Amino acid sequence: MTRFLTVISVKEAVAAAEKIAPPVRAVSVPVEQCAGRILAENIAADTDIPGFDRSIVDGYAVRCSDTTGAGDSAPALLSCAGRVMMGENDTQLVIGNSVCAYIPTGGVLPAGADAVVMVEYTETAGDTVLVKKSVSHGENVLMRDEDFRCGETVFLPGKHLTPQDAGVIASCGRASVLVADKPVVGIISTGNELVPASVVPKPGQVRDANAPMLAAWLYEYGCVPILYGIVGDNREAFEDVLERAVPECDVVLLSGGSSKDDRDMTAGSIAQKGSVLVHGIALAPGKPTIIGTIREKPVFGLPGHPASAFVVLITVVRPLLDKMLGLSKPWIPSVKATLAVNIPSQRGREEYVRVVVDKGVATPLFGKSGLLNTLVKSDGLVCIPAGFEGLEMGSEVEVILW
Ligand code: AMP
Ligand code: MG
Repeated sequence: MTRFLTVISVKEAVAAAEKIAPPVRAVSVPVEQCAGRILAENIAADTDIPGFDRSIVDGYAVRCSDTTGAGDSAPALLSCAGRVMMGENDTQLVIGNSVCAYIPTGGVLPAGADAVVMVEYTETAGDTVLVKKSVSHGENVLMRDEDFRCGETVFLPGKHLTPQDAGVIASCGRASVLVADKPVVGIISTGNELVPASVVPKPGQVRDANAPMLAAWLYEYGCVPILYGIVGDNREAFEDVLERAVPECDVVLLSGGSSKDDRDMTAGSIAQKGSVLVHGIALAPGKPTIIGTIREKPVFGLPGHPASAFVVLITVVRPLLDKMLGLSKPWIPSVKATLAVNIPSQRGREEYVRVVVDKGVATPLFGKSGLLNTLVKSDGLVCIPAGFEGLEMGSEVEVILW
């Protein structure tokens, strides 16, 4: 048996995948469409934010020294010099001693004032305002540049942008923003036994689960999947579809036929058109994985079992996509949980066990490798590192949610 004598570690496989990642391609998008994308430039404030001292409450702009000792029984009596109008900077309105002016939330703090008393703590009697609470210097005022200083870097490239970020980017004066272009990923399912979802499988046939699963994940991850359908186990068909997919895509994923059996066409076909860099990873599930290139484009051969294909997708393909996207830190939703039972594992390979998480407790769903039901009944995966012979009940684990 010479199969998989030369498996490499997940770390080495990831390094091999990252090495062949095409460089980040930046595209400009309107700022309102940037959420979910990865920033591909520096964003700096083009003005002070805010650009002036502004009130954060509705109330009266005052000199704080005029309110010293003010309370319910001894209010400070100030004369009202006028009103601050929203969006205007009235340079005529000046707050001198024992003077105040009405100011709405967001209004420009008039000259001379250094604090704002909330309207709730005041009463008016004609032009006189009774202030029943003392305020300190700067109270209820957002200082000019308190949010961001002009020229200050607000975001660095590689950030996964949120809707809130879109608001801040617009506040920095940007109507459009450079983000990483979506990687175009070709998906090819292989196997004589496969039929599409629309066909009722005859005995011996199975419906293609991998292509929709991989495509759905890729959509969610900010890629553009292209489906090339199902290819039977013959070398010519493999090479034809690769010939079509490689020029149209940034990355190509084949699933099935990635083992070292005589009937497994993937490695041979990739080698025929390009080169195979990795064949076999110390990963369970996911050992029969291929990493190669065809005309500089990364081409992966993923195992056929859907759960295995998925594990390889998130452990080995994702780092390559992250590199293409310029992502500064992996975008992996996860939760911490405590293991309900011991999980055994084989030393020397990284193992991913499907678990259900309930109230902070992770319970493994052990099942045979081809099962689909454990894929959907589980909430995520627990990784048992290669150097471990399992994890003990009660240990704290990070569950990668899916
Ligand atoms: P293979 O990697 O080609 O040896 O396939 C391993 C197992 O996964 C076989 O039972 C296949 O029928 C199954 N399989 C392969 N591709 C798919 C797919 N696209 N959808 C569902 N099952 C698949
Ligand atoms: Mg097959």
